[in-house]
Amino acid sequence: MTELQIVEKIRILASRPETGGEKRPPAPPTLELGIGDDCAIFRPRPNQDLLFTSDQMLEGVHFKKFHPAASVGERALARSLSDIAAMGGEPRFCLVSLSAPSEDWIIDFYRGLLRLARRTGTTLAGGDLAHSKRVYCDVTVCGAVAKGKALRRDGAGPGDQICVSGRLGKPWDRRIQPRLKLGQSLVGLATACMDLSDGLSLDLHRLCVASGVAAEIDRVPLAPGVTLERALHGGEDYELLFTLPPAVAAPRGTTRIGTVVDGTHGAVRCQGRPLTPRGWDHFRR
Ligand SMILES: [Mg+2]
Repeated sequence: MTELQIVEKIRILASRPETGGEKRPPAPPTLELGIGDDCAIFRPRPNQDLLFTSDQMLEGVHFKKFHPAASVGERALARSLSDIAAMGGEPRFCLVSLSAPSEDWIIDFYRGLLRLARRTGTTLAGGDLAHSKRVYCDVTVCGAVAKGKALRRDGAGPGDQICVSGRLGKPWDRRIQPRLKLGQSLVGLATACMDLSDGLSLDLHRLCVASGVAAEIDRVPLAPGVTLERALHGGEDYELLFTLPPAVAAPRGTTRIGTVVDGTHGAVRCQGRPLTPRGWDHFRR
């Protein structure tokens, strides 16, 4: 099969009204032209800010050869959607570049990716394909948020409550549920927000550095059967970490874990002791 034929197969998959009984949300009216030309054309609405994020998935680094192609595809999109959620945005479209060993693998990958795309209203607008022995993919997602309202990492102030969604330390290969609705509900409420992709200890440290503050945490909601150590330092939770002004109640499904304080920028204390940022870092040796 030629690349053009595979692209055509993906285009048909992406334009099918339903797959596996799941309804496809209407295509956002802002995507003027999708798969098939040299570029996609996107026309943003006035009074919107656009959000862009991209994430790579490498075989042997982010997943193993034995992981099913459909779940790799779903996960590849979910990781980028989690970044859109962290900024309080709504996803609009994605661009997917993929190198893989076979046509079957590519089609299964897209089936998994498109399932999540449909559930979240993300249009597959284009991308690139190549043949390689090892799988490599890169997913770029564009999202939108009301002008000037995106949630950022740098707004936390002393006295703010520190909160997380869900429970932390979950096993690596579970399904990621990007917290899009929660992120959108935090717009105008949260003073800072990010997603937990590399572990609470490292991500909270990053949020504190960006905001020029320190943090004290006293409890962490644990996933069933995991240790506090794992919940603090294990990566890939894809929950939201956010700060709220003192008087605002934490939304349902979220837990207050501590307080933002004045102090050395980025310093985090857990149950009274300094917490070393030891989450996932690709370049740490
Ligand atoms: Mg992130």
